[in-house]
Amino acid sequence: MAEGPDLTRRNLFLGRAAAEPRAVEPIIAVISQSCLALRGVACMSCRDSCPSGAVRFELALGGARPRIDAHGCTGCGECVRTCPADAIRIGPHEEAS
Ligand code: SF4
Ligand code: SF4
Repeated sequence: MAEGPDLTRRNLFLGRAAAEPRAVEPIIAVISQSCLALRGVACMSCRDSCPSGAVRFELALGGARPRIDAHGCTGCGECVRTCPADAIRIGPHEEAS
């Protein structure tokens, strides 16, 4: 049985880069600056509503601040629904702060 064409060599010969699969950013919760906790207001609704335990609060000057664990977040959107400040949306991980 004959071997198929070497597409990699063919692409190099033709000056084309071999097609490589693109990494897909996971879709997770992203918290914006309108978060109440970032303004010193005690709020942990997102943490309380998250079924995956993906919202962690870190101690900081002025009060605890929420952080999304990108590996634990499933992008379910439950925290979006419960946030009183409409400060969470679901988007690519690269947009998370
Ligand atoms: S529920 Fe909303 S306002 Fe409250 S800490 Fe989470 S992101 Fe901030
Ligand atoms: S999107 Fe779902 S899993 Fe991710 S932080 Fe919000 S509630 Fe938790």
